[in-house]
Amino acid sequence: MSKVATCQSCGMPLNKEENWGTNKNNSKTNEYCKFCFLDGKFSNPNLTLEKVIEKSVELSKKLWMPEDKAREIANNTIPKLKRWNS
Ligand SMILES: [Zn+2]
Repeated sequence: MSKVATCQSCGMPLNKEENWGTNKNNSKTNEYCKFCFLDGKFSNPNLTLEKVIEKSVELSKKLWMPEDKAREIANNTIPKLKRWNS
């Protein structure tokens, strides 16, 4: 298990156990969120790093963050996540 409490696919904070993904044996994992990882596999295997970054930027813009700032943060954090850092 990772000590990092953010989803290693989409970067979502995983401070609440209810948002954790699940392994094949139904145990919880705090490496991925329930939207990315269920039952031991990725819910969306066709997801790409670019798509995750775009989604993250859209989300940040809804929270009134300027797009260039949102993009800078996404580009600095999401490629380092375990799913994309291989
Ligand atoms: Zn996720």
